[in-house]
Amino acid sequence: MSGTQAESCSFCGKPASQVGKLIAGPEGVGICDVCVSTCGRLIERENKKTQSTKSETATSKAPLSPVKLVAPAQLRAELDAYVIGQDHAKKVLSVAVHNHYKRLNDRLQKSSSENKGELAEVELDKSNVLLIGPTGTGKTLLAKTLARMLDVPFAIADATTLTEAGYVGDDVETVILRLLQAADMDVERAQRGIIFIDEIDKIGRKSDSASITRDVSGEGVQQALLKLLEGTICNVPPAGGRKHPEQQCIRVDTSDILFIAGGAFVGLDRMIARRTGTKSLGFVQGGDISPNLSAEQVLAGLQPEDLFSFGMIPEFVGRLPVISVLEPLNREALVRILTEPRNAPTKQYRKLFALSGMSLEFTSDSLNAVADRALELGTGARGLRSVLEGVLLETMYHLPEATPGSTFTVTAEAIRGQKPVSLSAPDEKNKKRA
Ligand code: ADP
Repeated sequence: MSGTQAESCSFCGKPASQVGKLIAGPEGVGICDVCVSTCGRLIERENKKTQSTKSETATSKAPLSPVKLVAPAQLRAELDAYVIGQDHAKKVLSVAVHNHYKRLNDRLQKSSSENKGELAEVELDKSNVLLIGPTGTGKTLLAKTLARMLDVPFAIADATTLTEAGYVGDDVETVILRLLQAADMDVERAQRGIIFIDEIDKIGRKSDSASITRDVSGEGVQQALLKLLEGTICNVPPAGGRKHPEQQCIRVDTSDILFIAGGAFVGLDRMIARRTGTKSLGFVQGGDISPNLSAEQVLAGLQPEDLFSFGMIPEFVGRLPVISVLEPLNREALVRILTEPRNAPTKQYRKLFALSGMSLEFTSDSLNAVADRALELGTGARGLRSVLEGVLLETMYHLPEATPGSTFTVTAEAIRGQKPVSLSAPDEKNKKRA
């Protein structure tokens, strides 16, 4: 190597003997380890500044193109292709979603041109939705299907994993981060998305009396979500996790994000029955009186105070003005779910078999048997899939070994575990037909 060796740092002037490392450059120039990290920090700070101006322009700029409005009846008809029953919820959601995007377009118009007239000054409120209904009845499915139909980003959050900022658990900003990720980090698209918050009934305030310990996963979360629901500029740490003073945040305006909250609110029907005096209609179940109210009756009798008794704070309930109650799914509905929707479970398994060149058939008795077992599981339609998965496991395990063109028939006995799924080889089947 030619050239003079650096004897001191050319930046701070410290001699090589007083620094940890001295990195030599050409012609006697050198830089010490301390100066390298100082320079690194300077560059990082500069980069953050540029990024922040970029993200600010991204959020301050109003979304430009209006959303294509879809009529409620059309939304409803499309929901019918995927969701069985739940007529009231479908209607309520179709109208709420239609109005939500109508409001968004109105806000866009206002910012672009001065719209005159008596109603021009009227500000439309957001129509966030609360879906009440037992688990596995289609709350998430309804929200997800709507988002797909409208081609807007969609995210699901579990309210029970959230805690007030600064405590163990997820900050509410992670909910927005999930939506941003669903929108490929496109802030404008995320700002028109839909967020489904599940298990909303599990974040009730812990007690009415003020306590010394903070209620960080109950009322604290409701307070934090409240801001998102009503519309705020939310600073989202792009890498997730806790906000870090040095981490650059992405600013997302939640004013046009539609929030759909879902919860089972177990015991709500009993509460309403007790108040409205419909208890006598019920039957005794496990020593307890089940009021047997229809979703319609629950909705008709529902008062905000009922939700307060689950620990929901009034301000939070007030931000979910559109409410629907979903019906528990009976045997008939479960059988329809097995076969009718576009992605019905039996269609999915038939497709899986067809991809291996085989046929799969279900007798009508077998469908009833699957529904009955799902009812026993008590997880609504969610149980259907697990029942079928269990019954078809062995068959799917050996599927590649079967003769191509074979037909597998699922019978009620197979569902009850009394017999295996029956198999007929291709020639046997042809013989039977002949
Ligand atoms: P939850 O009400 O607990 O949010 P989900 O919407 O997640 O329930 O339902 C779980 C699964 O059960 C869905 O993915 C779907 O396959 C099925 N399912 C539930 N309800 C219905 C329904 N009404 N119509 C069709 N499928 C349904």
